[in-house]
Amino acid sequence: MKILLASPRGFCAGVKRAVETVTVALEKYGSPVYVRHEIVHNKNVVHDLKKRGAVFVKEVSEVPVGSLVIFSAHGVGKNVYEEAKKRGVYMLDATCPLVSKVHVMSKRHERQGFKIILIGHKGHPEVEGTMGQSEQPIHLVETKEDVEKLSFDTHEKLAYITQTTLSLDETKEVIEALKKRYPSIVGPKNGDLCYATTNRQEAVKNIIDECDLLFIIGSKNSSNSNRLMEIGKQRGIPSHLIDSKEEVQEAWLKEINTIGISSGASAPEHLVEELVEHIKQLYPHVIIEECSVKDEDVAFFAPIFPEIKKEN
Ligand code: SF4
Repeated sequence: MKILLASPRGFCAGVKRAVETVTVALEKYGSPVYVRHEIVHNKNVVHDLKKRGAVFVKEVSEVPVGSLVIFSAHGVGKNVYEEAKKRGVYMLDATCPLVSKVHVMSKRHERQGFKIILIGHKGHPEVEGTMGQSEQPIHLVETKEDVEKLSFDTHEKLAYITQTTLSLDETKEVIEALKKRYPSIVGPKNGDLCYATTNRQEAVKNIIDECDLLFIIGSKNSSNSNRLMEIGKQRGIPSHLIDSKEEVQEAWLKEINTIGISSGASAPEHLVEELVEHIKQLYPHVIIEECSVKDEDVAFFAPIFPEIKKEN
């Protein structure tokens, strides 16, 4: 048996920054610190931060007045900042800079009089945050079929932006459908998919034709992890999105020659190592190959930590 480890995989620069933001906040201010929404979509990461004193809340209204709230890597709409300001809580923004870049583009399009179409998944927190940047409604499309349902005239000023963690292939299809229907629409050639999404998908595509089983370490609500798993499924290869080695069923490994493994941008590397170790215990002669398509050296500066006045 052989294991092919797709690389790059796992933590991206935005996730590292967000997790470090919570960790440093806990050291600097002490627990509890409040985090609106899961800081990144990974059960293990969230569980670990909870143990260290982070309290995860759905809404700012759950944060006690005078406490600190951290906004997750997915970003938030303007209304959330306003609500936090009104409530009198301190804010620490861990929005990934690549998501913030999409927010900036959306505001620029709005100032220039464009109507904005967002390609993304309904209900995803990044999509909600991006839609909440604009005064005018942003029109969400998920598929090329949704493009057919749009009711703009061809002469209208239109711009598109995208979620950062979509499938490269599906995004390309939707952009092509938009350009066909509205030839003067403006937007980034390949959408706003971030480097981490692109590299992780390319790395899985690089190994997938050699694999007869694919494991993606990541949580079920992680958009980029789901997109990695779909690459295997679309090729007709049994593909499993798992949080950790505990979910592996031994029957899945029967009569398998080559296993591909990758992990979503919010999954820590130790979970991949534990999965490999688990397979090694079952099949001691397994050969492990690291298959890299690109080196990554992206890093982001930490956000600005507020000075918190303690009540006497
Ligand atoms: Fe930022 Fe991309 Fe990572 Fe999302 S997946 S946090 S956009 S680098």
